[in-house]
Amino acid sequence: MPNGPRILILDIETFPQTQLRWRYWEDGAPFHTIKPNVVAAIAYRWVGDKRSQVVSLDQTPGYRATRIGGEAEVTDDQWLLQEIFPIVVAADFVVAHYGLGFDRPMLEARLWEHGMGPFPPNNWIDSKKEIAKFIRGSGYSMALGNLAEWLELGEKIETNKSLWLNCMAGQRKAWTQMRKYARHDVDLLHDLFLSMGPFMRTSVFNMGHWYKGQDVCTWCGSDDLEKRGFYRTGASEFQRYLCHNCGHWPRSAKRESQKEIDGTVTRMR
Ligand SMILES: [Zn+2]
Repeated sequence: MPNGPRILILDIETFPQTQLRWRYWEDGAPFHTIKPNVVAAIAYRWVGDKRSQVVSLDQTPGYRATRIGGEAEVTDDQWLLQEIFPIVVAADFVVAHYGLGFDRPMLEARLWEHGMGPFPPNNWIDSKKEIAKFIRGSGYSMALGNLAEWLELGEKIETNKSLWLNCMAGQRKAWTQMRKYARHDVDLLHDLFLSMGPFMRTSVFNMGHWYKGQDVCTWCGSDDLEKRGFYRTGASEFQRYLCHNCGHWPRSAKRESQKEIDGTVTRMR
């Protein structure tokens, strides 16, 4: 799709908050928050690109990694946010797993703290929420790792908390592993997004905008469509198509009786 939308697959890794608490199992608010969460790494991949990319805190100018522990010099994620900002701005769609529940609010909270402006209102697609629309009730897990394993897209790289602790301590080897881990997650999410597309029921994503005046599949943009029945609401009837390229069932946005009056832009069912 040379003229298709720019779709950014994104995944962030964060460091935990630094808090003071009186007791290990204390409920409720901490006694004091020393430092809020910071973004540690952001992996991303453009749909159509062969390779994922990552920006991480240790790449911040002035950051000095240590060989064996010690406090890292830089734990400020402003540079990281400045790096990712124009990339997000350039996207027509941003896809993140639980992205509307975590990635976007976390990034915007960090932008706000740093006195930077917000992201533009481009469309974020939360793959987890979209998947829930068609498999909730099946009993399947909607966690990225489980989905990727089940669909045989690959397995997540195994980690434990020492990876985070070692990165917070500034260890170069740990950061190399963190970048690898984040990139692999975004590669899995990239493949998951392409796989889930034909099942997606979102009204946000519509390839018809990039093929104005043509009847194309709303998911994949193919014009290999076959008229197969009608989509009906209480009041109206719309031509339904089967896409022979991806299996999606787009429908015309025009009511049957109006068809000759306007152009056609198909829409998600
Ligand atoms: Zn299609």
